[in-house]
Amino acid sequence: MNDDVLLEAREAFARGRADEALQEAWQMTMPAVLGQDAEQLARSAAFAEEVACATSGGTQKEARQYAAYWSACIEEPRDRQGTAWNIKSWFRRAPRERRYPCPQCAELILVDAKVCRFCGHGL
Ligand SMILES: [Zn+2]
Repeated sequence: MNDDVLLEAREAFARGRADEALQEAWQMTMPAVLGQDAEQLARSAAFAEEVACATSGGTQKEARQYAAYWSACIEEPRDRQGTAWNIKSWFRRAPRERRYPCPQCAELILVDAKVCRFCGHGL
């Protein structure tokens, strides 16, 4: 597997583009979320923490949410649909169009969804 999928995010961060770095990291980490790749999730969470430490305000908050979400994904495997997978709380203030994987079927659903439109899972 690719050694560092966060390379572009790190480069954006190095250029001082923290927001862009987070967007990049979010997209690059999605396969790890779906595939329960603990190693990559840990790397992404560490990167988000790094961004959080170097930023402030909304960007810092978003970075902390990402770190918390990715850490929760490591601790809560998808076959044990526990509370950590009720992740809407991480994204309460996220843009409405943001999506995350359904804990039941792993299709991407809107953060605000009450029911998964693919499998009917209640969220
Ligand atoms: Zn679903």
